Amino acid sequence: MATKERLAAMAASVATKERLAAMAASLCAVCSGVMVVKLVVPDPRDRALELRTYVCAECGHSRTYSVDGGER
Ligand SMILES: [Zn+2]
Repeated sequence: MATKERLAAMAASVATKERLAAMAASLCAVCSGVMVVKLVVPDPRDRALELRTYVCAECGHSRTYSVDGGER
């Protein structure tokens, strides 16, 4: 029971981290424009992860983040 709760707490902490990453990804570092997901592919280094490429709608600046794809 206690182990299960710890796992749930860990999962919540991961989800929070992801949410922060998603928030960081939502604004362009160059022009503060809105970043949109352009491409999602499996991370070749870790099958539990996926690489999400965000592209700025304003200036085309792109960033790729490696995130846990387990939420699907
Ligand atoms: Zn931009």
